[in-house]
Amino acid sequence: MYDPLHDKIPGVNDSYPNSYWADISGEAPENDGQLNQTLETDVVIIGAGFTGLSCAYHLANNYGIKAIVLEANQTAWGCSGRNAGFVLKSSGRKSFTQMASDWGEEVMRGIYDEMAAGVDTVNELIGKGIDCDQQAPGYIKVAHKPNKLKELINLSEIQRKQFNYQVEILDQQQVRSQYMDDQNAFGAIRYTDGFGLNPLKLAWGYQKLAREAGATVYIGSPVTSWREDKGRQVVCTPKGEVRAQKVVLATNGYTPKGFHPLVNNRFLPVLSQIIVTELLTDEQIRQCNWQTNNVVMDTRALKYYYRKLPDNRILFGGRGAITGKAAQDPYYADRLLSVLKQSFPSLKTLNYQYAWAGWICMSLDDIPHIHHNPSQNIFYAMGYCGAGLSFSAQAGKRLADSVAEQKLPDLPIFNRHLAKFPLAPLRRVGQWGYFQYGKVKDRYF
Ligand SMILES: Cc1cc2nc3c(=O)[nH]c(=O)nc-3n(C[C@H](O)[C@H](O)[C@H](O)COP(=O)(O)OP(=O)(O)OC[C@H]3O[C@@H](n4cnc5c(N)ncnc54)[C@H](O)[C@@H]3O)c2cc1C
Repeated sequence: MYDPLHDKIPGVNDSYPNSYWADISGEAPENDGQLNQTLETDVVIIGAGFTGLSCAYHLANNYGIKAIVLEANQTAWGCSGRNAGFVLKSSGRKSFTQMASDWGEEVMRGIYDEMAAGVDTVNELIGKGIDCDQQAPGYIKVAHKPNKLKELINLSEIQRKQFNYQVEILDQQQVRSQYMDDQNAFGAIRYTDGFGLNPLKLAWGYQKLAREAGATVYIGSPVTSWREDKGRQVVCTPKGEVRAQKVVLATNGYTPKGFHPLVNNRFLPVLSQIIVTELLTDEQIRQCNWQTNNVVMDTRALKYYYRKLPDNRILFGGRGAITGKAAQDPYYADRLLSVLKQSFPSLKTLNYQYAWAGWICMSLDDIPHIHHNPSQNIFYAMGYCGAGLSFSAQAGKRLADSVAEQKLPDLPIFNRHLAKFPLAPLRRVGQWGYFQYGKVKDRYF
């Protein structure tokens, strides 16, 4: 599998992975094919995931700027077409308590508002006619140990106080009798505004809106080299090139090795793995008391997440391999299945039908960064740390504002560059170390 720390391009026109989403979503909508000429434009966007497409749409719709989007493979071939489809009011990994302690309450609230705006932006775009199999709202954060419920309750109190965010507290009995009989659930908090959807259909919907507004989307067109010529940025693909005044980098965790000095060594691509099971029978659903389609995540340092899909399969996810080379090893999917069965022992004969992985993008300081380098007119949005479905819509919108020379709010997610990883070539050793720490923490604390 493509590995951003080893490979120079993600592929050329590669097909979608063998994911549930690619299987059930039908025909991809029309695009502009492969780039096979030289084009001049104001703005070129590299990467056709949620970020690139949201940026293209907002540039065209809000500012009349008709950008060209270049995608190496297929629309949403990266994370955007492979994720779990959880729409949540969050991004990054830094807690709001930590933000308040580092930067003060005003900044923390400003960041919360941007994350909340992400969900609003997704809802607004869906409202323009995107059919993406939205499920009923509800996000359950499950305590995987009894002592974790206290932490969740404290969190819910802070959120209620700081953001007037209504959070329901559920004891173990309520979770198991009213939502699902998860044997690893020791209580939970429940938000009423998260929900599940089909992420590939969502991205295809973004593309349709962007093209209708005037953007062009070329697939099968990886940017393989990049130079400056008479004040213009020239990005080259195998069969054509684009000369642009401004370049938006929307490649996130799929950014290839050595792609651009502005982002090299400033992110860590980490594999997240998903399985989707066979169809559950009515009897299996009854035995698990599975009454909800809410999206569920636990409190582990190495989190597991799951949801019941509209056709009564279970999507279950967690961490994957460390390298692209090991990504297809069935060990990782089998491990997820065995954790699923620990939670729901009555599913002991269930198997998975789909398994795939994707590269999420970690930043050193655990927050996303939307950045503009004025000397080169390059913009990027990266580092959502595995929580970018809704935030990418907002990041794309903010990128568009920045390209159109609008001032962004004075927040660390906008006014700071991605930090360089110390000892960057050893990033994966650090990741391995974190996984060992996480295993111990999740088991004993
Ligand atoms: C398994 C998994 C589950 C997840 N679940 C959730 C979830 O439930 N909720 C949530 O909020 N987040 C989730 N995420 C994270 C979320 O999917 C991402 O944050 C989000 O999709 C990032 O979108 P993006 O457009 O920035 O990047 P991507 O969707 O990764 O798009 C980047 C694109 O750039 C292209 N590209 C790279 N290099 C080049 C080049 N040289 N030339 C041209 N194109 C190039 C790639 O092919 C790719 O299509 C999950 C991620 C994974 C992997």
